[in-house]
Amino acid sequence: MTKVLDFKNVTRAYKAAKVTAIADVSFEVNESEFFCFVGPSGCGKSTILRLIGGIEPITSGTMEKPNEVSMVFQSGALLPWMSVEENVSFVNKAKGLSRMKIDEQTTKYLKMVDLEAFRFRYPRELSGGQKQRVGIARALAVEPKVLLLDEPFSALDPVTTDELHECLLKVWQETQKTIVMVSHSIEEAVFLSDKVAVMKQGGIKEILEVKLKRPRNSESKDFLQLLDKIKSLLES
Ligand code: ADP
Repeated sequence: MTKVLDFKNVTRAYKAAKVTAIADVSFEVNESEFFCFVGPSGCGKSTILRLIGGIEPITSGTMEKPNEVSMVFQSGALLPWMSVEENVSFVNKAKGLSRMKIDEQTTKYLKMVDLEAFRFRYPRELSGGQKQRVGIARALAVEPKVLLLDEPFSALDPVTTDELHECLLKVWQETQKTIVMVSHSIEEAVFLSDKVAVMKQGGIKEILEVKLKRPRNSESKDFLQLLDKIKSLLES
């Protein structure tokens, strides 16, 4: 298995604020793995994504990661003055890719998230779920080695969240991308991921492998047992 991410004893401190967001964090993510961080608000989940995204530097430790990563944000973070197509293609345009290549990538990923028919719409004309699908297509269009998702479904209703879970699993299976996601929902993490890192107060308490077969049944005994295990880790 090829390692895509390797954190060894990584600490990130905000010195001015005298806050240590994460301390001594170690984990590895393999190629094509779906890896998820769960834990209470403020435990350092988003900090880890920002470090992988190269938005911030580490304070100490070592971090190996590819440069080609892209992020799907909580709100979709679409540019309101651009159409769906333009939102998905603008980074590739800025990179100077050929028109044909840009069009090929845009069409491929809009199809993958079932939004080709919405190509010429604007964000204001889309539902919350559709905006997140555009956010996923945009992140994929630059062909990243790692796809990062920061609580991407937290603002959506339960039915739309289920649809987006299916969409993300389809994207993952078709592209074989390495995915690193942050979630505040243990159910979501267990439903989607190969591995769940349980975080508490700036550290990883345990990394659990989810061996349940897909498609997963969130009411099965094994699923519920794993949820209980994670809950007790969070409470201990
Ligand atoms: P989570 O994503 O788990 O909610 P974060 O990674 O956002 O947590 O934050 C971890 C800790 O670091 C929190 O205590 C937060 O207040 C602090 N923190 C995050 N960003 C900054 C910053 N830019 N300056 C100072 N403290 C920060």
